[in-house]
Amino acid sequence: MTARPGAVLLDLDDTLVDHEGAARGAVLAFAATHGPAGEPDELVRRWQALTDRYYPRYQRRELTLDEHRRERIRAFLGQPDLRDADADARFGVYQCAYRDRWRAHADAAPALRALREAGVPLAVLTNGERDIQTAKLRATGLLELVDVVAASSHLPAAKPDPRAFTATADLLGVAVARTVMVGDSVENDVAGALGAGAAAVHLDRSGAGPGAEVVGALRIPTLAALPGLVLAAE
Ligand SMILES: [Mg+2]
Repeated sequence: MTARPGAVLLDLDDTLVDHEGAARGAVLAFAATHGPAGEPDELVRRWQALTDRYYPRYQRRELTLDEHRRERIRAFLGQPDLRDADADARFGVYQCAYRDRWRAHADAAPALRALREAGVPLAVLTNGERDIQTAKLRATGLLELVDVVAASSHLPAAKPDPRAFTATADLLGVAVARTVMVGDSVENDVAGALGAGAAAVHLDRSGAGPGAEVVGALRIPTLAALPGLVLAAE
């Protein structure tokens, strides 16, 4: 980062909030009461694979939110003929278990507070439903720490489409070229931001991601490193 950004955009799931942990706990709780039977890691992998198959189709607006949820539940249960109302009820069970498990990563609030105290405008830019993602921020105590919540359900397109980044910058009143996007997804957050003309920081909590030379952006292991990085830029 060569110049101090005019705003910081942050991804939500697995950047500020532990989505993966919540989804894992929720799918195991669901399977314990509704099936299918299976070894825990295998059930989690199966649910994740179905999420990866159907969620992007919802993001591309090929399926509605409800349609993609029904397909995920039907495939997970191996019941392709499950009626809509029954699929909806079962997805509701999963959704309640997921909501009960929302937790912020411990480094999220301190990083947001430090940036905010330095006067840096902050937006959450997330692929998802605005109501759910706003509730997630509220439940984890992060909502009051950001200026704007931009969710793809109410944007012209989802990440990595450049319009997601431009629209979020517009909401903050800052040129997209003066923003920096921080997130865990190389494709959606990093490549998307760079394609929109923003700067990007890759949050690689596991340290397993590709190197900075591949990603083309700065890499940090935790959000604790973010305020120093942003505020040191001149
Ligand atoms: Mg993410």
